[in-house]
Amino acid sequence: MKSEVVPKKAKKEKAKASKASGSDEKPEPIPAEEDNMEDESIFVMPGDFVGTTEEFIAGDGTYANVSDIFSLNIGYVNIDRKSRKISVIPKTDIPPVIEEGDVVVAQVVNMRDSVALVNIGAIKGKGEREFQTNGSAAIHVSNVKDSYVKNLSYEFSMSDIVKAKVINTQNMRLSTAHKSLGVMKAYCSKCRTPLVKDEKKLKCPACGRTETRKISADYGTGII
Ligand code: ZN
Repeated sequence: MKSEVVPKKAKKEKAKASKASGSDEKPEPIPAEEDNMEDESIFVMPGDFVGTTEEFIAGDGTYANVSDIFSLNIGYVNIDRKSRKISVIPKTDIPPVIEEGDVVVAQVVNMRDSVALVNIGAIKGKGEREFQTNGSAAIHVSNVKDSYVKNLSYEFSMSDIVKAKVINTQNMRLSTAHKSLGVMKAYCSKCRTPLVKDEKKLKCPACGRTETRKISADYGTGII
């Protein structure tokens, strides 16, 4: 075996040259280390599918629904090859400060009688994640919509992606009392299929179940 140390760049040129000269000699495959980096720079929006739990562990800026992993951020998909952790790296590196009046995208992580607890994934117009808070916030039953809410479980459900406005940064209170605010993406509580908007309700395309939510006018669009 011929042992010949050729710098990577020279090897590439050599391969090109042999191709051009019409030689039958099979060119060595060009190492594609640098090129592979581009494959991971996939730009995603909140709710976009990024992988399965069979392949990856859901990391920062993602959430899992059954065996699928989705983005909670606007940013780029990053895969840690060693740990198999998949995360979505925010578009910006500067930690944004959450202010009153900001519109955020968050996921419902806990449902209580009078409050829905959420994890904030993105701030409209300010980039995403790594904020100077831990991302936890709450939507109180009185801030869901302009009209009276009898049962919070008719408005939100676990894993829902919601768009909400920050009304108090002291205790991180959010409000969804506007046409554009509310649930952006929801899953069937029976079979976990993403629900589709059907007039004023949400319908499961898989099992036909109908559910109610405080739906955002932008439901299903991914628009913040
Ligand atoms: Zn269903």
